[in-house]
Amino acid sequence: MVIRAYGKFFDVQVQADSRVLLATIKGSVRRERLRTDLVAVGDRVWVTDVGEDEGQIELVEPRTRVLARLARNTRDIEQVILANPDQVLFLFAAREPIPHRRMLDRFLILAETQKLPALIGVNKMDLDQATDGRSVAEKTFADYVPLYDVHFLSLVTSFGVERLRTALAGKITVVAGPSGVGKSSLLNALDPGHDRTIGSVSDHTGKGRHTTIATQLYQIGPATFVADTPGIRSLALDAVPLEDLAQAFPEFRPFLGECFYSDCTHVHEPGCAIREALAAGTIAPARYESYAALRRGDTLDLAAAENLDGP
Ligand code: GDP
Ligand code: ZN
Repeated sequence: MVIRAYGKFFDVQVQADSRVLLATIKGSVRRERLRTDLVAVGDRVWVTDVGEDEGQIELVEPRTRVLARLARNTRDIEQVILANPDQVLFLFAAREPIPHRRMLDRFLILAETQKLPALIGVNKMDLDQATDGRSVAEKTFADYVPLYDVHFLSLVTSFGVERLRTALAGKITVVAGPSGVGKSSLLNALDPGHDRTIGSVSDHTGKGRHTTIATQLYQIGPATFVADTPGIRSLALDAVPLEDLAQAFPEFRPFLGECFYSDCTHVHEPGCAIREALAAGTIAPARYESYAALRRGDTLDLAAAENLDGP
């Protein structure tokens, strides 16, 4: 498994003994793979041990899926951020920082368009405050519970961590979320053997960013990896084609094709099945608002998305 890339060099973790070899790519691999990055983090490769903890990559297994930056034109090489991701965990906090729902929607759309199953984590539940006997965070994220696997967590009390660990087992999970929500803390909780830098919210105002430039995989259990990829931030800034937008809202799907106009944008047309579902309470108002805002081309959310990074 390629767990880290440094230009032409790759850290390859050998399955048999978990040793990490610093590997280069054999010339024959080059000729076989033209339109994509030859080797990317997450690739399963066959490697020859050439001694002194160095290796040579002989063969790259076919990828099940890639998280890639879209090529700007057809001659471009696809830029792979992560090969073979199984799912993505979007981590937010109940408070500090206050969760930004539009940003979550934006990133769920990204996951849906990349056909990557999404999980949602809401950390810092120990800081959550109840109003009218109900948790503020549970209210904020209530719309998502029927749609996605939502994990309420506290890394301070370990609340929810074991259930999350079960959801990650045997998979490669990309973790992304705004600065300060607890991504590094989560990696440490899942894999106490490795010590990673945990910053305070105020440490994350910019300068520390260069510490997480490259995608890296951390093994947190047998065949279980968590990917730290700042690349998802730039991915999110790629445009999602407008015609794919409604499809990216899973609760809209049962109604698509039911509108009076076949090219309905679900914003102003009469006989719109989506807006009927909204009026009937089947679609949550805030989720519809997110859709409508993106459809109108509001770019407000993109500014907020700038604040998203990896662990
Ligand atoms: P990252 O920027 O997403 O990697 O966040 P960090 O893991 O660096 O955590 C940011 C801050 O939040 C640190 O001061 C952590 O100690 C704190 N923190 C992390 N998890 C929790 C939690 O569950 N509850 C509370 N109260 N603080 C937390
Ligand atoms: Zn419609």
